[in-house]
Amino acid sequence: MKREDVLTWDEYFMGLAHLSAKRSKDPSTQVGAVIVSKDHRVVGIGYNGFPNGCSDDEFPWDREGEFAQTKYPFVVHAELNAILNSNSDLRGCSIYVSLFPCNECAKAIIQSGISRIVYESDKYADTDGTKASKRMLKAAGVQLEQLPYQMELSIHKKDQ
Ligand SMILES: [Zn+2]
Repeated sequence: MKREDVLTWDEYFMGLAHLSAKRSKDPSTQVGAVIVSKDHRVVGIGYNGFPNGCSDDEFPWDREGEFAQTKYPFVVHAELNAILNSNSDLRGCSIYVSLFPCNECAKAIIQSGISRIVYESDKYADTDGTKASKRMLKAAGVQLEQLPYQMELSIHKKDQ
């Protein structure tokens, strides 16, 4: 008898997004993104972090204060990292992301040819950024799908 209670594709790829998010050094928001082709192959993966060479020990993770003293001018979002880390043509692909993409990532998603976004949380739905994001994504015909559940992933290590 084969196992029947396996992860669905949605659970598998969103689970992978959550695994990737666990690499983020951001103390307040950890986001992961996974780009998947039509034939269920992972073609890109990312999490929110600073650009290469910009040390987590030298750049700020603060959310408040003067702009240059916060994380905002420096951080690369999970979706953009997944696009930049991808290894193939993204036209027609889906992106799985634990938080609805901001307007900057929406531009990159549209321009890369990704045609479907599967997301969990939409906690910033009322912000101007998310409204602008949705306006662009809808105009560009990108399919938006919110999962009816939120996944939680915990990793346990045990001694050999
Ligand atoms: Zn973003």
